[in-house]
Amino acid sequence: MLKGKAAVVTGSTSGIGLAVATAFAKAGADVMLNGFGDAAAIEATRAKLAADTGVTVLYSAADMSKGAEIAAMIAEAHAAFGRLDILVNNAGIQFVSPVEDFPVEKWDAIIAINLSAAFHATRAAIPFMKAQKWGRIINTASAHALVASPFKSAYVAAKHGIAGFTKTVALEVATAGITVNAIAPGYVWTPLVEKQIPDTAKARGMTEEQVKREVILAAQPTKEFVTVEEIADLALYLASDSARSITGAVLSVDGGWTAA
Ligand code: NAD
Repeated sequence: MLKGKAAVVTGSTSGIGLAVATAFAKAGADVMLNGFGDAAAIEATRAKLAADTGVTVLYSAADMSKGAEIAAMIAEAHAAFGRLDILVNNAGIQFVSPVEDFPVEKWDAIIAINLSAAFHATRAAIPFMKAQKWGRIINTASAHALVASPFKSAYVAAKHGIAGFTKTVALEVATAGITVNAIAPGYVWTPLVEKQIPDTAKARGMTEEQVKREVILAAQPTKEFVTVEEIADLALYLASDSARSITGAVLSVDGGWTAA
């Protein structure tokens, strides 16, 4: 389905990004991975994905909190693949704290990685997509792009920002063959969710089990975590030609969370 296409997926050494990159590679796209982690483990992931799918899989260590590194990553992908068709702005971090105690450096990091990184990557990618008259930009938003939860001020602000950024850019490039959409997952079982459980437990004075049952899955009417594969399947559809008329959309995959 994506044979001959080239994609960059930020934050793809883990969780949702890795599932999206894997789905794209299986569909025939060359892929640039990005994200942090153990260098040997990342190289093993890269090599296995390339061997399993037969596409070219590259890796960029660009830090999504640094605009210049993001621009360089997009330029590097275009130079290596000779094209750039799909950009998935997915890297993200979380920090949970009452707003009056929220560490300033955590606020700055979340806004940089979860919001500004999408701006830096998008502005660098659009000229290549315009020249090809075809492009797909997919931003990983969140149910927290539509509704709030306490103690997540930076994350909720950044994700609401991503929804607005998605709609704005979609309008700007609507006649250029480029679509821009956001996927808004509910709780997906990934390291990002697992890591916030101890802090949420502390902030709410609960046990970790209570947090999972009474805080996390309480918000999700299905009472089940979304899987990374479900998000990857939607990203794959949005990247396809069939989805050419879907643009500026924030698509919920949240087990009914934001219907409530
Ligand atoms: P994850 O922790 O498994 O993956 C995050 C990825 O981002 C990793 O590859 C990590 O290395 C990378 N990353 C973090 N900081 C980076 C930086 N400065 N530069 C480059 N890469 C960086 O988490 P995930 O749950 O897969 O999250 C992926 C996206 O999905 C995030 O934007 C997150 O906000 C969003 N999301 C997750 C959930 C969920 O329940 N897991 C729900 C809604 C939205």
